[in-house]
Amino acid sequence: MQTLTSHRQADPDTSAPGKVWFVGAGPGDPELITVKGRALIERAGAILFAGSLVSEAATRWAPAGCVIVDSKDMTLEQMTAWLIEQAGRCATVVRLQTGDPGLYGALIELVQPLDAAGIAIEVVPGVSSAMASAAAAVESLTLPEVTQTVIFTRVEGRTPMPAGESLEALAGHHSTLCIFLSITLLGRVTAALTAAGWSQDAPIVVVHKASWPGEEKIVRGTVATIQALCREAKIVSQAMIIASPTLGARQWTTLAKSKLYDASFTHRFRRASVPASTLTSGTP
Ligand code: SAH
Repeated sequence: MQTLTSHRQADPDTSAPGKVWFVGAGPGDPELITVKGRALIERAGAILFAGSLVSEAATRWAPAGCVIVDSKDMTLEQMTAWLIEQAGRCATVVRLQTGDPGLYGALIELVQPLDAAGIAIEVVPGVSSAMASAAAAVESLTLPEVTQTVIFTRVEGRTPMPAGESLEALAGHHSTLCIFLSITLLGRVTAALTAAGWSQDAPIVVVHKASWPGEEKIVRGTVATIQALCREAKIVSQAMIIASPTLGARQWTTLAKSKLYDASFTHRFRRASVPASTLTSGTP
């Protein structure tokens, strides 16, 4: 457990028992926190942040006098005890998590003891690293007539995968896969894609430290090459693996256009400006 200090001025914060806010800090760039998340940090009496990924946002926006603690060496019980103790002391307690708190963030395990202690909580969503990685690579995770589905998953590590959720089974949909927590198991990822019938030429993008100023790395490869390319780039942590039939579409010369912006398509906000005879489907 590591305590940090901040140089901003503290607002008076007296109305304990307070509320614990689970705030998504975003993927790394401190400017990718939401306006609401930042406002909560600016008035927080105590912040528990999850490791180096989010320390920057915490120290940049927190007021002076705010107790800022890194949870990286704490057990779940120590974390909930700390949050309960701080809620007894100040009005606004922030648990700052990477990306969005609802993805691989132990959110419910932290919330249940607070519920049991009668502490009010609220969750503020954050920009997930999946979205930041797609943005960094200028990729769309969905494309008309290519795939309209995104699966957020991981390969089995110490956390077992529930039945029916093996990567091979999920890859069988041939939709977009955003694979978290799996960069050290990239060989298993490519083996699962191969077993599910993906071609060796199918594109894969790996984004390391998406949105981190000066530290982001984007590696583009295929099922056959991505492992060697990531090894060469020395990417062993904090990386998102995106496998998708949409990858590289920025360079495609033929593209099925979204119906939403089609001149012949009428929807709730706009009437068609050309006859509907060219329409092939009724929904955007
Ligand atoms: N709640 C987080 C995910 C936490 S799990 C979110 O919504 O993004 C941690 C995993 O997220 C890492 O193993 C990595 O796969 C991914 N990750 C987190 N930050 C990342 C970043 N800046 N760039 C790429 N991947 C990242």
